[in-house]
Amino acid sequence: MFPRYGVEGQGVDVRGRDVRVLMIAPPGAGKGTQGALIAAHFGIPHIATGELLRDHVARRTELGRAVQRHLDQGELVPDHIVLDMVRDAMVAAKAAGGGYVLDGVPRNMEQARALYQIGLELGMTADVALHLKADDHELIRRLLARAALEHRSDDTEEVIRRRLALYHEVTAPIVSWYGERGILVSVDAMRPAEQVGREILAALEVMRPLVDLVPESARRAVDLTGLGAAFGERST
Ligand code: ADP
Repeated sequence: MFPRYGVEGQGVDVRGRDVRVLMIAPPGAGKGTQGALIAAHFGIPHIATGELLRDHVARRTELGRAVQRHLDQGELVPDHIVLDMVRDAMVAAKAAGGGYVLDGVPRNMEQARALYQIGLELGMTADVALHLKADDHELIRRLLARAALEHRSDDTEEVIRRRLALYHEVTAPIVSWYGERGILVSVDAMRPAEQVGREILAALEVMRPLVDLVPESARRAVDLTGLGAAFGERST
């Protein structure tokens, strides 16, 4: 939460209100890392569906037992389970100031529509849909490297390939919907995490004071993926 300026009751918030971000990215693109960075930078809750689900599995809750098989096989868990979980987290985020960074949802068009409805009901639809782009070859390399360190049950090569295939099949198509709504920001996630993070924070800082002033209908998608090359950065 940020300090509000001005006289009580008629104050103008010159820094903008807490920002609301959702992330769309293939496995291995760095959603978790960048989500945590955005949350820490803006002091907003980081709602990571994969983390929440893995926590249920670890605690052997009823929900955890119901979803474990889906997670282990790299399949999506049923929409209603994720959406109930996300709604609860959004209600808590509202009480904490109204900002959020969503990591791992939406993952298909049904979830995108349902999330928009939840956002409308709570008066907290997303300001920015952040799309992290990386190619499959790099993603598989990163996920296999992580597998050696973290032992996540879904980081075997076979399951990684399934998660990537699902991303291309059902998640990637929703990116254009956010483009049409004018809230899409695309970032090149092939570079080192610190560089990607700096670019994301800079873009969000620029947009934050404007989110309540510029209606969605007047916005345009922002593509930052060519920025590095435009400034003479060597591609690898
Ligand atoms: P990754 O993007 O690397 O696959 P996540 O931690 O975001 O990692 O998700 C891990 C798993 O959790 C997914 O493979 C899926 O089984 C489940 N999951 C997470 N979010 C959702 C969602 N929104 N809808 C359905 N399943 C989900």
